[in-house]
Amino acid sequence: MHIVFAAAECAPWAKTGGMADVVSSLPKALAKLGHRTSVFVPYYRQVAKAVPNPTVVLSSVTIPFPSYNRFVRILDGGVAEGVQTYFVDCAELFDRENFYGTPSGGYPDNAERFGLFCRAVIEASKIIGVPDVFHVHDWQASMVPVMLRSVYYFDPMLRHVPAVLTIHNAGYQGWFPPETMEKLLLPWNMFTPDKLEHYNTVDFLKGGIVYSDAITTVSRKYVEEIQTAEFGNGLDSVLRQRSGDLFGILNGIDYEEWNPATDPHIAAHYSAENLAGKKECRRDLLHAYGLEGIGDETAIIGVVSRLATQKGFDFIVDIMDRLVNEDMVMVILGTGEEYYERVLVEIANRHPDKLRVQIKFDDVMAHKIEAGADIFLMPSRYEPGGLGQIHSLKYGTIPVVRATGGLDDTIDEQPSGGGNGFKFWGYDSSALLAALQRALGTFRNKAEWKTMMERGMAQDFSWDKPAGEYVRVYERVIENRN
Ligand code: ADP
Repeated sequence: MHIVFAAAECAPWAKTGGMADVVSSLPKALAKLGHRTSVFVPYYRQVAKAVPNPTVVLSSVTIPFPSYNRFVRILDGGVAEGVQTYFVDCAELFDRENFYGTPSGGYPDNAERFGLFCRAVIEASKIIGVPDVFHVHDWQASMVPVMLRSVYYFDPMLRHVPAVLTIHNAGYQGWFPPETMEKLLLPWNMFTPDKLEHYNTVDFLKGGIVYSDAITTVSRKYVEEIQTAEFGNGLDSVLRQRSGDLFGILNGIDYEEWNPATDPHIAAHYSAENLAGKKECRRDLLHAYGLEGIGDETAIIGVVSRLATQKGFDFIVDIMDRLVNEDMVMVILGTGEEYYERVLVEIANRHPDKLRVQIKFDDVMAHKIEAGADIFLMPSRYEPGGLGQIHSLKYGTIPVVRATGGLDDTIDEQPSGGGNGFKFWGYDSSALLAALQRALGTFRNKAEWKTMMERGMAQDFSWDKPAGEYVRVYERVIENRN
């Protein structure tokens, strides 16, 4: 089977979050199963820096707009582990400082940028190879199914090609003004609340949900949650209408990248059989955060995250003045909302021996935290899948999480021990503090803690099983459309 992936992010070239990891590692797992997989991503400035002179595959693809055309090149990103990557090059739209916008908001032409990207993927596929199925990710690629089932409706090459949409986060939908319909040459009769309209805006993700043959989200729990008003962000009713075509497939992780026995970014290697190296990683992490004096009895709590309310940073800010009384230090790595960047730095200045913050996106430091911390904190308000907690399990770093979405699916707290982490319910910072205190209490019991680490490290969250589940979804939509 030939599967074409379209996404705004793919590690290692362009990454702000977990979608980039999925779009990088799922195709590899599919290739291992014998499928042909191609991935299209925009040729952002950051990608151009990493791959400055790629071979040109198509030198000019015409992308029409109402009163002008844009011309896109398709570049060869190479074949790695059986996966062919293509870059969509349109310098006027993608050669910018950031992927989506500045801290004060999205780029004003994002509808045009990602509308062009989607049309380019379709046009390029017609020349390079029409797939058996398109697999598109989040709002940025949602115009692929919308266009396939509207402006490309009569195309004999594409008519029987289904599309699967994966929702990595329904909190970001791509809302644009109504005139976007004309800008992207879409028929006005699609601008209705049961199709693309969301309160007088064009909603890209909603379009993707309505026009894809199947929709997946990245954990089972999130499939249930997303169909409720609380988590659906206005998409719950359209998702309920599609519930027969909605599937929850838990993300896997790439153990070639996230494995303490082989990780090139960490100070020493270790495994469940021989944990000695973790001590060295701990020392290395403390050094990286300027906390050299901290002893083995003090727990290190690590956070690697986008700094956003979604990730529960309001809870963290709320408990800090109480948490500093505990025998712990917290190290945070993240970028995101200006407010949290400022407040966290302020708290760290007040309690320099308890909290250290690094405001940056740094893949190597993310690995160092996973390896060197004792506890990994992820108190998300909602979490479609979540990768940080799954990385942590492999690194013997016990997760403390809020019981939502993929966090609830993967982390299990047992009152009598026997689980792989700690979790809390409700929207209550005291419940977070209590969960952390339970974790810190268990940390003092070295034998119990070690057993818990070993239990998490033994769990298998590889892509083997989820890749098979995706194949079943692809087979189903291919069969239904033929
Ligand atoms: P989301 O996709 O909502 O941001 P996930 O937990 O699914 O959350 O994935 C986050 C991914 O991004 C993980 O691989 C994590 O290690 C990485 N990450 C997040 N923030 C940073 C950062 N500041 N530096 C390096 N990696 C980061």
